[in-house]
Order: sequence, then structure tokens, then C-alpha cells
Amino acid sequence: MESTTNTMVNGSDLDNNNAAGGGGVVDVYGEDFATEDQLITPWTVSVASGYTLLRDPRHNKGLAFTENERDAHYLRGLLPPALMNQELQEKRLMHNLRQYKVPLQRYVAMMDLQERNERLFYKLLIDNVEELLPVVYTPTVGEACQKYGSIFRRPQGLYISLKEKGKILEVLKNWPERNIQVIVVTDGERILGLGDLGCQGMGIPVGKLSLYTALGGLRPSACLPITIDVGTNNEQLLNDEFYIGLRQKRATGQEYAELLQEFMTAVKQNYGEKVLIQFEDFANHNAFELLSKYSSSHLVFNDDIQGTASVVLAGILSALKLVGGTLADQTFLFLGAGEAGTGIAELIALEMSKQTKAPIEEALYLRRVKTDVLNLLQGLIVSSRKESLQHFKKPWAHEHAPIKSLLDAVKAIKPTMLMGTSGVGKTFTKEVVEAMASFNEKPVIFALSNPTSQSECTAEEAYTWSKGQAIFASGSPFDPVEYNGKVFVPGQGNNAYIFPGLGLGLIISGAIRVRDEMLLAASEALAAQVTQEHFDKGLIYPPFTNIRKISAHIAAKVAAKAYDLGLASRLPRPKDLVSYAESCMYSPMYRSYR
Ligand code: NAD
Repeated sequence: MESTTNTMVNGSDLDNNNAAGGGGVVDVYGEDFATEDQLITPWTVSVASGYTLLRDPRHNKGLAFTENERDAHYLRGLLPPALMNQELQEKRLMHNLRQYKVPLQRYVAMMDLQERNERLFYKLLIDNVEELLPVVYTPTVGEACQKYGSIFRRPQGLYISLKEKGKILEVLKNWPERNIQVIVVTDGERILGLGDLGCQGMGIPVGKLSLYTALGGLRPSACLPITIDVGTNNEQLLNDEFYIGLRQKRATGQEYAELLQEFMTAVKQNYGEKVLIQFEDFANHNAFELLSKYSSSHLVFNDDIQGTASVVLAGILSALKLVGGTLADQTFLFLGAGEAGTGIAELIALEMSKQTKAPIEEALYLRRVKTDVLNLLQGLIVSSRKESLQHFKKPWAHEHAPIKSLLDAVKAIKPTMLMGTSGVGKTFTKEVVEAMASFNEKPVIFALSNPTSQSECTAEEAYTWSKGQAIFASGSPFDPVEYNGKVFVPGQGNNAYIFPGLGLGLIISGAIRVRDEMLLAASEALAAQVTQEHFDKGLIYPPFTNIRKISAHIAAKVAAKAYDLGLASRLPRPKDLVSYAESCMYSPMYRSYR
């Protein structure tokens, strides 16, 4: 078959279509223009037609190809005669997806769709976000990672293993897209609350980036999922014949640091200063170090530390409207002082100092007094243990007699807000929740550990054990609960509220560094989206259905902060950042091919 080409015209070329020879796929939505770093030079992309077009997920429309398109692009006979518009295709696929009773089957079906028809995949995800988020992300993605070797079909993303040492720049150049704006990278050592899944952690960057597009409007072609494979200490995987990664124990120390250094250097060399690198699900001994090592030289963000902190702080800020009082009036008790726990505590302290305008010494004092970080594995973080603590826990050491159990800690410390960030399920027992409800009119309970099996307690337990008093949010989703004739809608402190909008804000402003002030701005922007109607249902987060609007607001605040701090490189500063952010967002609607 003779193969011709379609020509896609970048948005900047819209007024000058003849440049593309009068034919092609016209970017009427503008997203390629807006989030593209090529404002001056028009560009063209050749797209094969006919059989190859049907197998190109970025341009395939399946039965939605019109009669004219079928003629013009050598599709006659390659499709059955029926025409089906995108809405009908969506309806059919949602119907099919709902037939699957096993969540992993839905996950595989969604991944297949992404491989087949990218725009339809995103249309489904955007239009059915509350239903499909748990499929493409937590909790199902956790199971998918555990079984990644068995369900592995086409590779997604880029794998960089120890075998590629010395050649990482070449590996990056193998990726077909040049204009990458966001990289999500993991080394698979701490996948959700499931531990070391080695190379099979790839499900996480893939899932996170699909949310970047669906919820934050980043173009799929600008997103690059990467897994760094330095081995795994997971014996089960090492002995699994279907395991897809390196069959060796994890490299550590200098060998690990050198590979990461090469990776970070190569990324900057290949994609420039403004590519956002999001660290995801690294074990905490590496996560804190990588973040502090690269935050002054690269645009880096750790979602487990900073994204979690920002989304939880937003929940706390809106919970205050229900509980009353100020942030500085609260006492927090954390079960689990890892990436999530200490990240949240740190951001709470920053917000407290911002609100109270307390000098830094006083803010430090406040955070020590008001914030008790507990780690039951090794005992309460008390000053007497300071020398043996990991460095990121040291700032939290404070004077306290040793406490043996969470229940004793709750009774002794009397927190107003209880935060579960240990990755260990069922630790907020009936006694713990009852104790919280005994001295708080409205105890705030965040059961943040993922996936659902690791949640500290369920929504139903929190509401029933507290006799309907609790304000509850969790990491994984729970259905609404009816208690005593009243329906309680649990909040989901899902990082997906924050990182897509934050990323969009960084990209549209051309930010070159991430600063804590941007995280605070993101939290405040999210909290501001919670209305009285939501509060009336007990919600402390806005519904996910509005997520693209929420992301645009977060992006605008983050971008504004980047401009204020002198860290934005895209000038001039747009006047209305919310509408600018909205105008930049990817749309999954099919384009017309001529
Ligand atoms: P991490 O490994 O850095 O930290 C976990 C901490 O808990 C460690 O310090 C560990 O020593 C401690 N711990 C383990 N068992 C404990 C026990 N029985 N009692 C007390 N402490 C214990 O992991 P992380 O990144 O902080 O993530 C923790 C959990 O939070 C995971 O389940 C993760 O999925 C979840 N998480 C949720 C969100 C969210 O919902 N928005 C975001 C990030 C992380």
C-alpha cells in the first residue's frame, strides 16, 4: 500500500495552514501550542496513514473516522462500515468496563485502550474520573505492580537499569518524543504501602502521568514515565520466573548514587532546565537525600513528601472550618514518621509560621510543641533517642516519657488531629477512635496509608466508632457511609488533587525550581475550592468531578508564586493566570483530519 502522510500543524501555525500543504490534523484546541515550549518555530509531525494510522494510538480514532477521512487516509475496507462518534465509543467502553468484576481486569482494559486510542482513553478518564481513578491509580495500580510481570504486554515508559550505566543519555534519546515537560521516576523500592516491587514499580509513573494529563491537562506526549532498576530485595520477585527486572539485590551507596547522578545530569542535558522531575515511591532513605541534593540544581518535586504534605495540609485547612480554631491551636499525632508523616509535619509548621507570623525560632518551638511525631516501630520520637534517629526525623525529637502503644499516646497527648502515615493497616482501632472522640467534639482522622488494605481504619469504622463525630479522610477511596440516618461522605486526601495542578503551574510559568511557598499556595488554592455545600456533607475536599477546574486554580496560584519569587522564565506574565492555565490544558476531543 502506498503510504502518504498526514501533517499535524502546531497551534502557532493555525493562521498559516498553507505551511502544512493545506492538509493535515489541525490543532484547533491549542494545547500543543500552549504547553509547548516552541512559541516561535512552527513544527510539523508526519503521521502514517492507512493500516499504520489505525495502530498509532496517538492518532487512531477507530470507528470515529469519518467517511471523508476514510477516503483521504487509505482506511477504506480496514474498518467496518459503521460510524461511531467519540461519545458513543465512550458509552460502549464504559459499558464493557463495568462488566468486569475484577478490578485488575479493568486496569488491563484501560491500559489496552491507552495503547490503542489515546484520546479515547483520556476522554473516558476525564469524564468518569471518580469511577476510573481507582482503576488507573490507587488501589488497583498497586495490585497491577505486584503482578506487572504477568500482565506485561507492550512496554510503557523508559527502563533505565544498571546495565545502562554510562549510556543513560543514549537511552533517553531512544524515547520517541523530544519535548518532554514532566518525568515521573521511581526506583520501585517503596511502591504505595506494598514495599519493594523493583522494576515492576513502572505502573506508578505510568499511572501518575496519565493523571497529569487527565487532571492537569499536560499533553501525553510531554510526559515520560521512567523506572530506574537497581535490583530488588524482594525475594518473591527474584524467584518469580515472570519478573521483568534485574535479578539481583539492590545496588546501594556509591553505585546507586552514581547511577542517579548520571540520570539527573542526562535529563538536564537532554531536556533542559525546565523539565519537571517528579520522584515517586523511593524508599525514605533515598527520597529525602535525592530531594535535598537536587532541589537547588533541578526542577524536582517529591510527591510522597511534598505532594502528600500539600494535599493533607489543604484537608487540614478546610477541616478547621468545621472544627473551629486556628492551625496553631491544633495538636497533631502521627503514626509513622516517614516521607509522608514528616513531610506533612514540616508543611504544617511552615503554614503555622506563615499564619502566626511567628519568627522562625518560635515556629520551630510551635512545631515541636504542637506536633508530635510518633513512630511505633521504634517508639515515640523522643529526645533521648535523638542520636539513633534517621536525620529527617531528628527535628521532631522532643521531651516525652516513652509511650508503648498508639492508644496510650492518644490518651497522653490528646491530639485534635490523628494522622496515619505508617503504611500499616488497621492500626486505628476501635479504642483509639473512641479515645479521640472522647475528648474532641469533632476528631479529625486521616487514615492515609495506601492501598485500601493498609488503611489505618475504614470510613465506616471511623464514623461508627466515633458515633458520627469524626471528620474523616483517607488515602484510598471509601464509599459514603450511612450512620444513624445521616450520610457521611469521606474525603480522599489523594495526591492527585495537587500534583497535576502544581505541575501545570510550574510548566506554564516556565519555573526552574520548586519552593515550599508554592506547595503552600497549592494547599490554600485547593482548600479554597471547598464550598459550604461540601462541608454540609462532611467533605473536606471538593469532589473530584471538578478536578480540571481545581487544577487550573492550583496552577494559577503556583505560577503566580513562581513569578513572585523570580523563578518563572516564561515572560511576560499572563494577566489572568486561571484562564491562561485553562487555555493550556490538553483536550481529549478528536481532531478533524483533512
Ligand atoms: P515511609 O516508609 O517513608 O514511612 C513509613 C514510616 O512508618 C516509617 O518511618 C516506618 O518506620 C513507620 N512505621 C512502619 N510501621 C509502623 C508501625 N507499625 N507503627 C508506627 N510506625 C510504623 O512511607 P511513606 O512514604 O511515608 O508512606 C507511608 C504510607 O502513606 C504508605 O502507605 C503510603 O501509601 C501512604 N501515603 C499516602 C498518601 C496519600 O494518601 N495522599 C501519600 C503518600 C503516602
